Amino acid sequence: MDTPEYGFETLAIHAGAAPDPTTGARTTPIYQTTSYVFDDVDHAASLFNLQVFGNIYTRITNPTTSVLEERVAALEGGRAALAAASGHAAQLLVMHTLLEVGDEFIASDKLYGGSITQFSHSFRRMGWTGLLVDPDDPDNFRRALTPRTKAIFIESLANPGGIVIDIESIAAIAHGAGIPLIVDNTLASPYLCRPFGWGADIIVHSLTKFLGGHGNSIGGILVESGKFDWAAGGKFPALTEPTPSYHNLRFYETFGDMAFCVAARTVGLRDLGPALSPMNAFLILTGIETLPLRMARHCENALKVATFLESHDRVAWVSYAGLPSSRYHNLARKYLSNGAGAVMTFGVKGGYEAGIRLVENVSLLSHLANIGDTRSLIIHPASTTHRQLNAEQLVASGSGPDVVRLSIGLESANDIIRDLDQALAA
Ligand SMILES: *Cc1c(COP(=O)(O)O)cnc(C)c1O
Repeated sequence: MDTPEYGFETLAIHAGAAPDPTTGARTTPIYQTTSYVFDDVDHAASLFNLQVFGNIYTRITNPTTSVLEERVAALEGGRAALAAASGHAAQLLVMHTLLEVGDEFIASDKLYGGSITQFSHSFRRMGWTGLLVDPDDPDNFRRALTPRTKAIFIESLANPGGIVIDIESIAAIAHGAGIPLIVDNTLASPYLCRPFGWGADIIVHSLTKFLGGHGNSIGGILVESGKFDWAAGGKFPALTEPTPSYHNLRFYETFGDMAFCVAARTVGLRDLGPALSPMNAFLILTGIETLPLRMARHCENALKVATFLESHDRVAWVSYAGLPSSRYHNLARKYLSNGAGAVMTFGVKGGYEAGIRLVENVSLLSHLANIGDTRSLIIHPASTTHRQLNAEQLVASGSGPDVVRLSIGLESANDIIRDLDQALAA
């Protein structure tokens, strides 16, 4: 759909989708098939040679998933997108396309705990070194650059909560070094933040969270801006050098502004295999149709809860960028003009023990490891999601012993507040 003039709400419902040409079905069908019949041998050959775009096998493309890819690319203002089985799979495909053995990237130390673990352990075993730096001073990224640095990775609005990163300054540092800025935009969603407008080159999402929005499907996606010059510094051979498994085709020369997604799909996804299921693509697409409505209410409810907690005598501090007291409030006003998101952290007086008592006494809120659900969720990261981290990493990632994380859902704000109030009193 070539309709750049449509607004965000319209794109959330229509981008990438058209009535099914055969049946007239108005919602996108679930193409629950593994494979696709070739017209003839020549057609098959041109598909396998990447001379024409088309479907061969659902590990590489699927028509339901393609609609999801076009929709998220449109919402982010990007050139192309590639869906994957999970957010972590999308991160793996990005790094597999960018990095050779021995390469480095620099990442914020304020990230989803699972990303810190993925970078520090599994990626290291692949020969990729992820250096973690404090993103509050963008110059930390400049200081960590080496000739082997191939990318910078940050979250726009950082998990566990309330931290906003200065995307524009960090993009300038990345571009000065001839490397792309990758932004994990999961917590903000494109409704709150559009990182390409601030200089990001690649965006990744866990679709599991706000884009899907209903806590029912795991998925991930990467999006490329189409603006990065992969040839300039000779740093990205997987994109610029001949690819033996495709008759020595060069991705950047052949596919230009969508070379990154084509390479990540036809080499990374083909060989590593983390494809999204068509059923999950359908559920996530349905979720995206209401993204603008949901995000607006998530933010409204979250601000009410944060304001309540800030005045509660059993709460030591609240980290939510929507509060004027937040040290990130000015960055939030710049980067998150539609609201500061649904995820926040707060410190409960009494530390680790009090955190555990609180999560065990809520009744409406669900004690579980997720964010971005219609339901309000609570977790004590130090005893759960972040327990793989050492004491230093715990504090650096904003998950010290007293920290409780909330993902505020779409219930009546008063009911969420009442439940937290009684659990804090318990
Ligand atoms: C959940 C999450 C991920 C990982 O996504 P999965 O879909 O769980 O693999 C990555 N980044 C952020 C910010 C997340 O919240």
